[in-house]
Amino acid sequence: MKKYFPVELHCHTNHSDGSMSPGFLVESAKKRGYAAIAVTDHNTASAFESAAAAGEKYGVCVIKGIEWTTFFGHIVCLHDDANVADWRELNMDNIDAHAEKARGKNAVLTLAHPMRVGAPAANGCRMEFRIKRFDLFSAVEVWSQNDPPDSRANVLSEKMYDGILSGGFRLAAVYGFDWHSPGADLPYFINTYIGAENLNAEDLKEGIRRGDTYIAMGLQVELLADGEKLPFGAEIGEGEHTFELKISKGLCQGEVLPLEIVLKGTAIECGEKAREAESEDGLKRAVVKCGEKMQRAESEDGLKRTVVECGEKAREAESEDGGNSQVKSVRFGAEEKMRVQTRKGFLRFEVHGIADGKRLPLVFTSPVWVVY
Ligand SMILES: [Zn+2]
Ligand SMILES: [Zn+2]
Repeated sequence: MKKYFPVELHCHTNHSDGSMSPGFLVESAKKRGYAAIAVTDHNTASAFESAAAAGEKYGVCVIKGIEWTTFFGHIVCLHDDANVADWRELNMDNIDAHAEKARGKNAVLTLAHPMRVGAPAANGCRMEFRIKRFDLFSAVEVWSQNDPPDSRANVLSEKMYDGILSGGFRLAAVYGFDWHSPGADLPYFINTYIGAENLNAEDLKEGIRRGDTYIAMGLQVELLADGEKLPFGAEIGEGEHTFELKISKGLCQGEVLPLEIVLKGTAIECGEKAREAESEDGLKRAVVKCGEKMQRAESEDGLKRTVVECGEKAREAESEDGGNSQVKSVRFGAEEKMRVQTRKGFLRFEVHGIADGKRLPLVFTSPVWVVY
């Protein structure tokens, strides 16, 4: 039966610029409670054999990977062959060709920390690849490192991710700790959950490809749509749906309090006016009236965007969300059933609450896809 496994998909060892030996990394992963980790050193997979041996000892599934590290951005590539595509030839313009080669051999490619500070402070850390074929990639590190989820880099990554989803590209949201040095005993940390049949590298990679992932600090969630479990990444027909997010305690030791659920996406029926109403059955409904014209446009970065035209309100929305004016959001209490009118597009969930004494986003899910 399918389960959500807590994992960390971006780890370094002393085979590149990390300070931990492969064995110590795996032991630390066990202490944190990860079921699996991907070892993703910069441009080498030489730590894999020792890490896999430690994985056997500690009962941690170790996934083989490599972080393509270039001056134009970093890509985490999960594949049993570290040379599935040659990172030495990568440049800003041939990224799609490399991705196609790796993807053709079933590699899982993740955009690593796309909005981290880049040159001149840290050359290459910010994504500058001119990607047109986002369909060749499987995931985006929407949250990264020990940055709080509301840090500037993470908020910018969320916007980038919404732009990719708005183009219809079905990439999963993952966390990238980019683990370099000890700190297994931190009271607060974030991890990715992957829905998989069994705890092994192939099933976990397949879970990422399907988009059945979410990111969480100290919480676990499960999505129900109209009373039935719905994996993230799955499709659902358009119309009115009742969603529930079952929230329970997750990995870290620190105290975490969920307060509200925020739905975001293009699939929320939206338009000139949005209001919340409570109906006879006591369920809060996001009632949104639609009356705008829509057109599809392709922008310079190659992403298709849905442009919503509805006069002044559209312009207001655009200035607030940095251009993804089609991405609407609705808020509910953490315990509430959410009844939402949907149309074709994507719908993702966030849980906001208190962690480490601060009000923060605590959960960020991959979307479900509303189809005709
Ligand atoms: Zn990196
Ligand atoms: Zn890294």
